[in-house]
Amino acid sequence: MSNPASKPDQHGPATRIIHNRRHQDSFGSPYSPIYNTTTYRFNNTAALLDMIEGRREGCLYTRWGTNPSIQELEQGLAGLEQAEAALAFASGMAAISATLLTHGRNGIVCVGDLYGGTQAFLIDQCQALGIPVTFLFREEQHQLADHLKQPGKLVYFETPANPNMAILDIHAIAETAHKHGALVAVDNTFASPINQKPLGLGADLVLHSASKYLGGHSDITAGALMTSAELAKPVGTWRKNLGQLIAPETAALLSRSLRTLPVRIRQHNENAMAVAQAMEAHPKVTHVFYPGLPSFEGHDLANKQMTGFGGMLSIEVEGGQAAAARVADSLKVFLLATSLGGVESLVSQPSATSHHGLSREERLKRGIGDGMLRLSVGLEDTADLIADLTQALG
Ligand code: PLP
Repeated sequence: MSNPASKPDQHGPATRIIHNRRHQDSFGSPYSPIYNTTTYRFNNTAALLDMIEGRREGCLYTRWGTNPSIQELEQGLAGLEQAEAALAFASGMAAISATLLTHGRNGIVCVGDLYGGTQAFLIDQCQALGIPVTFLFREEQHQLADHLKQPGKLVYFETPANPNMAILDIHAIAETAHKHGALVAVDNTFASPINQKPLGLGADLVLHSASKYLGGHSDITAGALMTSAELAKPVGTWRKNLGQLIAPETAALLSRSLRTLPVRIRQHNENAMAVAQAMEAHPKVTHVFYPGLPSFEGHDLANKQMTGFGGMLSIEVEGGQAAAARVADSLKVFLLATSLGGVESLVSQPSATSHHGLSREERLKRGIGDGMLRLSVGLEDTADLIADLTQALG
């Protein structure tokens, strides 16, 4: 059965995003000007009422989401995930929180590891609001149906997950969820829409921290939701009333970044594969977590549902936490920084950053060893990245 949220297009993603525009200006500029405006002038009250009462389309106030720069961005974002609709937000967390508050009111069941900020929102805010939240380990996903007995719940997960790159079967989870009247939301930040399209695999809602690959240069904080027009509409109301809208200037900058997304992702995929293979052959690296390696546990599933394996990988370094910290501190091209998805390569040690708050036992249960380093492989020359890692490991 076709997914109503998914809208296939006759053109490829690069063609679509490069030629994405809603308006043609009188100067013939190939790209739209930035509509840095809060409000819009009407010729008379009748014209204003026509818009407010829905007799004609137009812009009234930017926070409502009616701004040409934001609408053009949303058209591009929807196209990338082949979605019917998209909403742009001021951050990934804004997109996630508005979506969970809209569609998770009857309860949220999370599968596998989640980004720490999302997990904190689910525990601190959702539960405080009385929303039932359940967390299932990846190994417990066979219990999913037991937690969906009450209809109208939301199943939420990330794949590949942070930082062990664990892969979840989007199609299988969506099938179980739909059988029990639940919606499915997938955080697709790690894969990017170029490598994975959850809507085509049965998901109902796709979320992105656009601060990562969509922005791609570590200079934009933004978020996105791609889904059907019907599911997007109520989220838009939460966005409006919580004031989570992206600024028009940031929207235009993100639109510009999206034009190079397909080519950037191709290179991220290639660079990460080369780094993963080099690390797998290195005597001081005991394990490499990269979906593209045949030795990786989730490789077959990744091969089935992804068209590229992404720029994220983790390595386990011999000698534990102190040895991993020494490697991270010795890197010269990789920057020691949190976040991911930019043109520059980054390294972080999950036990010292994203998972610092967990006990060692809890970390090990999530497959996060003491010597784990997470690499966001950028677009530098691969030989330089491998040489940098080799000297640091040495
Ligand atoms: N989802 C994932 C997988 C992330 O890694 C992050 C941030 O690191 C977020 C969501 C939140 O995005 P933002 O920082 O843009 O709010």
